[in-house]
Amino acid sequence: MNINCKEIPYDFELERVSNELKGAKRVIVQLPDGLKKYTECIQKSLSEVLADTEIYFSMEGSFGACDLRIFEAKLLGAQAIVHFGHTEYSLQETVTEIEDLKVIFVPAYYKGHLPPGSVLNLGSNLKEIASEKPLLVASVQYLKLVPTVKEELEKMGFKPILGKSKKMLPGQIIGCDYSPLLSTKEADSVIVISGGIFHALGAALTFSGPVLRLDPYTGYVEDLRKERDYWLKRRYAEMMRAKNATSWGIIVGSLLGQYRPSIVEIIRKEISKAGMRYYLLLVSTLNKERILNFDSDAIDAYVVTSCPRIPIDDFGIDTFPKPILTPGEALSVIKGKTEVYRFPW
Ligand code: SF4
Repeated sequence: MNINCKEIPYDFELERVSNELKGAKRVIVQLPDGLKKYTECIQKSLSEVLADTEIYFSMEGSFGACDLRIFEAKLLGAQAIVHFGHTEYSLQETVTEIEDLKVIFVPAYYKGHLPPGSVLNLGSNLKEIASEKPLLVASVQYLKLVPTVKEELEKMGFKPILGKSKKMLPGQIIGCDYSPLLSTKEADSVIVISGGIFHALGAALTFSGPVLRLDPYTGYVEDLRKERDYWLKRRYAEMMRAKNATSWGIIVGSLLGQYRPSIVEIIRKEISKAGMRYYLLLVSTLNKERILNFDSDAIDAYVVTSCPRIPIDDFGIDTFPKPILTPGEALSVIKGKTEVYRFPW
């Protein structure tokens, strides 16, 4: 693929990165799959300044900052990890600091602008759903668009609220942390600026009111309510399949940020309290084959504590032989409290 490095639509902050990497002999670069095509540009740019630095590009998925390749860095004796596309993981439970290892996060902000008329169109959609105080959030790439959208909506008479949380940037959400949506009770809708449906769907499963997605490339506005109804039906069906389970497979993540001892503990306790059995299953990257290899009559249902999006986004379409739930869903089923859908924890 021919890529013009000068026209990359994301800010890779390569000057900052090379400054921070000065003196490093060996580094690991992590890129989400969608950004891997820019490897050559990154290699060229960094090598110009860091002629004596060995750069290893990780071929792994890098879906989030939960997947920081600390163990590989130790293995290679690397002095730094450059992690593109995310900010520091907000739900990290275990210590990430390893002596002499520097971790550099590069959010890769989108450098483009919204197509003309996008916010006007968004305003019309807000009027249609009678929303005056929308909560404004974005996935990290599009955070720089948030102030413009907020300002333009204000000029149109709306009272947008910037979603905030303690451990993420103002307005930021990630696929498993929607705490900004819970930061205020005043919002009567949520606007998510994101390139695909992934982040917006999570918002719709968290917030019970209307959720609109503004596409930063096309300016298209999508109302997520139908999508939410569809997914809620599927998830409730999956929860009902787990209702009579008496033994559980608790899937524990071994990627750094996906190891969640506190969540595992809560689930273990609830399972034991209900007089049921469990097995602890450790995995770095989960897929259907891995579960099928392990599956037996001894396990009735699974709960995935590593990444709560896996049961929905990866297993949600085809019915798997056994129910596979998120922590929030499993806890609701085990406690018999399913009236309110609990997402994701
Ligand atoms: S746990 Fe899943 S949703 Fe959360 S950051 Fe990691 S990959 Fe994304």
